[in-house]
Amino acid sequence: MTEQRTFVIVGAGLAGAKAAETLREEGFTGRVVLIGAEPQRPYERPPLSKGLLLGTAEPDSAYVHEPDWYDRHDVELRTGSAAHAVDRDRRRVRLAAGEEIGYDRLLLATGARPRTLSVPGARLDGVHHLRTLTDSERIAAAVHGGTRLVIIGAGWIGLEVAAAARARGAAVTVVETAPLPLHRVLGDRLARFFADLHTGHDVRFHFGSGIREICGTATVSHVVLDDGTELPADAVLVAVGVVPCTGLAEAAGLPVDNGILVDHRLGTADPHVFAAGDVANVDHPLLGHRIRVEHWATALHTGPVAARAMLGRPVTYDRLPYFFTDQYDLGMEYAGWVAPGAGTDLVVRGSLEDREFIAFWTRQGRVVAGMNVNVWEVTDQIQALIQAGLTTGATVAPDRLADPDVPLEALLS
Ligand SMILES: Cc1cc2nc3c(=O)[nH]c(=O)nc-3n(C[C@H](O)[C@H](O)[C@H](O)COP(=O)(O)OP(=O)(O)OC[C@H]3O[C@@H](n4cnc5c(N)ncnc54)[C@H](O)[C@@H]3O)c2cc1C
Repeated sequence: MTEQRTFVIVGAGLAGAKAAETLREEGFTGRVVLIGAEPQRPYERPPLSKGLLLGTAEPDSAYVHEPDWYDRHDVELRTGSAAHAVDRDRRRVRLAAGEEIGYDRLLLATGARPRTLSVPGARLDGVHHLRTLTDSERIAAAVHGGTRLVIIGAGWIGLEVAAAARARGAAVTVVETAPLPLHRVLGDRLARFFADLHTGHDVRFHFGSGIREICGTATVSHVVLDDGTELPADAVLVAVGVVPCTGLAEAAGLPVDNGILVDHRLGTADPHVFAAGDVANVDHPLLGHRIRVEHWATALHTGPVAARAMLGRPVTYDRLPYFFTDQYDLGMEYAGWVAPGAGTDLVVRGSLEDREFIAFWTRQGRVVAGMNVNVWEVTDQIQALIQAGLTTGATVAPDRLADPDVPLEALLS
């Protein structure tokens, strides 16, 4: 029997592209429409603040599929085409241009957009955000030897751009309201480690500082901090986090609370509508609470799970959050989840001074998260420790956790 159903995916980022790929891999022969607001075919964002800014990655390396993949797999890719509204009663998506597309199943993979500042001057020329390939190209064009770059926000993207900009020869100043970079995520000791990494590369920090104003006439000239300090700037990057793109879902009456609320199979309250990637706030069965994760690996893995759920397969999304970053000669992977403000202990195996270590966050002896810095091929073992803590309550003695002579595999025995 010929498959008559139409599956529509709104959001042609990594999650949307992987969902389309999975529908075909799973043998779905109906119509697949992938709608993306950006002009490019789906691409991955991590290189935008790393290899593409450094000039070490080929621009084409970011794309999820070869250009002809969509035709070859009969996926109707509509780039430069924003979905404007979802009519759940009639099961139709309306595009900005007015066209309507009916769906049997709908996946919302609309991702997130950069948070903006509301201070005067925030829209001046020379003030950048970084989410898209176009943003990355603009920043690359604006930042070179001698550029005075002020980065507002010392989160992962702010720090990655700081590293890339230093490699491009720019003078970099980072302004952050918290006392240290990544302080809320990493805590004092490791936040200090990242601050030292960057000051060692001549990045200047202003911690505990907000922005009063961004000044300039035609283009930006300086940034004024809360305390009146003026920082000269040829370019400014605002990197103060993202907000999930939930507008379509909200207007369609779907439950939204810090993302689109989905169950363990990424289904919304409407059995015909699913959500994946940065925009999905998932009821995570292993963690026992909801999480919305803004990581590459989540987009990579939730897209396929949502696709299988759309096909009616029994699925559960229970992967642990996983994140990576590269800054200068430091490579890092992080797995697990520490709720902000949760009381945890930090155990370090290896040497912070040598920048080669694994940091574990534990709660009541259970490993809840782990971060390997310039130590490789340990993610599976770290995740196994976290899984064991979550599923069986397994605890690990801190002295064994810290001891590099005890293999990670042996910690659970
Ligand atoms: C510069 C940068 C560096 C990063 N580096 C890392 C890293 O090192 N490690 C890591 O783990 N994660 C990293 N991330 C995060 C990671 O890239 C995201 O988690 C991932 O892109 C999320 O994928 P997504 O498909 O859910 O959403 P997105 O990538 O945001 O894609 C969503 C797409 O939907 C489109 N869209 C939105 N609304 C509509 C609409 N109404 N109609 C049509 N289309 C719409 C958007 O234009 C966008 O193209 C980085 C992100 C950025 C921006």
